[in-house]
Amino acid sequence: MAKRILVTGGAGFLGSHLCDRLVGDGHDVICLDNLFTSQKLNISQLLGRKNFEFVRHDVTEGFKFEVDEIYNLACPAAPGHYQYNPIKTMKTSVLGTMHALGLAKRVGAKVLQASTSEIYGDPDVHPQPESYRGCVNTIGPRSCYDEGKRAAETIMFDYRRLHGSRIKVARIFNTYGPRMHPFDGRVVSNFIRQAVAGEPLAIYGDGQQTRSFCFVDDLIEGLVRLMDTPEEFTGPMNLGNPVEFTIRELAERVVALVGGSSRIEVAQPLPEDDPKQRCPDITLARRVIGWEPTIQLEAGLRKTIDWFKTVDLTQFRAPTPNY
Ligand code: NAD
Ligand code: UDP
Repeated sequence: MAKRILVTGGAGFLGSHLCDRLVGDGHDVICLDNLFTSQKLNISQLLGRKNFEFVRHDVTEGFKFEVDEIYNLACPAAPGHYQYNPIKTMKTSVLGTMHALGLAKRVGAKVLQASTSEIYGDPDVHPQPESYRGCVNTIGPRSCYDEGKRAAETIMFDYRRLHGSRIKVARIFNTYGPRMHPFDGRVVSNFIRQAVAGEPLAIYGDGQQTRSFCFVDDLIEGLVRLMDTPEEFTGPMNLGNPVEFTIRELAERVVALVGGSSRIEVAQPLPEDDPKQRCPDITLARRVIGWEPTIQLEAGLRKTIDWFKTVDLTQFRAPTPNY
């Protein structure tokens, strides 16, 4: 049956793919976004569809809609974006989640929170299962995001305990694909942009730090399945690709796939608190929602490179200065 669904952060990279999916499934979708790290271009294919609405709004202010489900994705996600105004990042995570939960309580909606592997910090348990409590610096440059997302998880579970709220928490690991902001500074967008332009690929540190990269279509499938789990299941649930690569291996693959002659060079030391290893344990997702990624790195990178080759980079702006 068609549901009324609110997607906060719906014009962003993940949010726009989620809106595509939910609109395609016939649901009545409201996309709420302040366009801090995104642009309407991401949802231009949906504007004008009769089961899609865009609302420009900031989640640090309250919002009211009659909806059945809320996917709470609003939050800058790339390190450069969330460190741009770290105080605002914390407010967005904490106040945004509180506003989503307040609305959900009033109208009886289910809420799914887009949490992150960053809540594990620079992990000393590897791969990371949901039971791992993390190793997070409370006062570093990444803390506004990591601790904001940790606090958001806490509020989700406090609403559950206090008010019986229907909640789902997804811990999303590095996800990539078409519609990543080309200047978000994340490793996949930087490397592809650099390789397509024939520039050197800039590695931070020695490139031996690891990440596990999930293609966006797989991630969206996981989010939708998690939202549909029985009421008693809340998560947290890891969603990510458990195949791990070093950053240098990623650079080599991108260069090979783009086919140019870009060099790979060490550009700067590893940023402060940059996690040295990251890989999800997805046993829970396999068991509860029968989910695992189906698109492996090479296939996903090809699709992403194809998209990067078609975009007009002048259409993408840096975060708004008065954020
Ligand atoms: P994104 O920056 O493309 O999307 C975030 C969206 O939220 C943007 O459209 C932005 O304009 C909007 N936004 C930011 N602050 C807002 C505010 N105060 N009010 C309203 N809208 C606001 O990033 P993304 O990669 O699509 O990430 C989406 C969500 O998934 C985020 O919550 C992020 O923390 C989480 N996540 C993403 C990844 C990943 O690898 N992509 C990994 C872990 C978690
Ligand atoms: N990184 C890099 N070159 C870049 C951008 C990032 O070597 O141009 C490294 C970064 O230091 C980190 C990894 O790639 O170790 C992933 O960075 P990203 O910002 O994509 O995500 P996160 O650190 O949040 O996982």
